[in-house]
Amino acid sequence: LNRRLAEFGTTIFAEMSALALSTGAINLGQGFPDTDGPEEVREAAVRALRDGLGNQYPPGPGVPELRTAVAAHQQRRYGLSYDPDREVLVTAGATEAIAASLLALLEPGDEVIAFEPYYDSYAACIAMAGGTRVPVTLRPHEGSFRLDLDELRDAVTDRTRLLLINTPHNPTGTVLTRAELAAIAELAVERDLLVVTDEVYEHLVFDDAEHVPLATFPGMRERTVTIGSAGKTFSFTGWKVGWVTAAPELVTAVRSAKQYLTYVASGPFQYAVAEALALPESYFTAFRDDMLVKRNLLAAGLEEAGFRVFRPSGTYFVTTDIRPLGETDGFAFCRALPERAGVVAIPNAVFYDHREEGAPFVRFAFCKRTGVLEEAVRRLKGVG
Ligand code: PMP
Ligand code: GLN
Repeated sequence: LNRRLAEFGTTIFAEMSALALSTGAINLGQGFPDTDGPEEVREAAVRALRDGLGNQYPPGPGVPELRTAVAAHQQRRYGLSYDPDREVLVTAGATEAIAASLLALLEPGDEVIAFEPYYDSYAACIAMAGGTRVPVTLRPHEGSFRLDLDELRDAVTDRTRLLLINTPHNPTGTVLTRAELAAIAELAVERDLLVVTDEVYEHLVFDDAEHVPLATFPGMRERTVTIGSAGKTFSFTGWKVGWVTAAPELVTAVRSAKQYLTYVASGPFQYAVAEALALPESYFTAFRDDMLVKRNLLAAGLEEAGFRVFRPSGTYFVTTDIRPLGETDGFAFCRALPERAGVVAIPNAVFYDHREEGAPFVRFAFCKRTGVLEEAVRRLKGVG
């Protein structure tokens, strides 16, 4: 393994899912739903396969039906207008969108600012692109993890090329507010930065939180690459259908990298996702409401078990602090938890450069059937 990748090893998700399998523990680690997405969308995939749609290489930018559906979704929800032919690119999940964006937009040595804790592929992809990551730490403040805008401003240097944003945020569940996003946008314009914004949990926001795409702020549309994913929005994480929306020059750049990564992917599934994006609003509302019930169930159960809970405003993850249980090391806690309680969770420290900042935090996924969550909660009550 080369020096760029040597520090990364195996992803925590693979490690923890393997641990769940070998111990038979309930897997609240890796974030994937245990119920597949809508029947009619699965049927659409079957139809596409049968009708010979996408069984051979689809077009490089993605099938026109899906690009049109992505553009229509951004218009309908956010009033953002994108040309399906020049400003939308279909990718092999959000993961490829992140990789291709960074590989296309960074010069070796460019600095990338990302909030830590960050989704694990960010660090590896910045490294593969030869960039330098500059983490800005989200810290607990009044029950959620918040951004310090002064720290963000101070992190920008003459070498900063790009801000890598994620809202709703994995693993903390923080949803950036309109005011925070406006400040980020102002900074990006003032310092002439590109922005890659991972908005894969755009449909999972709770309570008073609101998802506002960064691309909607003044001066942002032309400098922002926005990333979405059918895996998250329609509960088909195995299909690996994601997308990018951005100005033509940015999409062209990302496509230049993407064509040498996978070239294309997921042919028949692209047609099915095009139909999914056109589902009535009731689908998206029911999806969110269902996830909210699960959030409340798991958050309350974890609180009863003695964890300090950061109730997430978005995503399907809840971050906890294990110190009230007399524990300080999330890694050790998560490695022992399958034996101790029959549950798998993720130590947030893996998402930090400053590992000590993340040491006492542990993430649980709640995109699971309520019976599974109830059983997990029962088991976790013995842990304190
Ligand atoms: N970004 C974030 C923040 C995620 O949580 C995930 C999924 N775990 C991804 C990107 C990757 O999405 P996909 O499965 O579409 O590649
Ligand atoms: N995004 C999922 C998570 O955060 C996992 C994705 C993966 O396994 N790479 O749990």
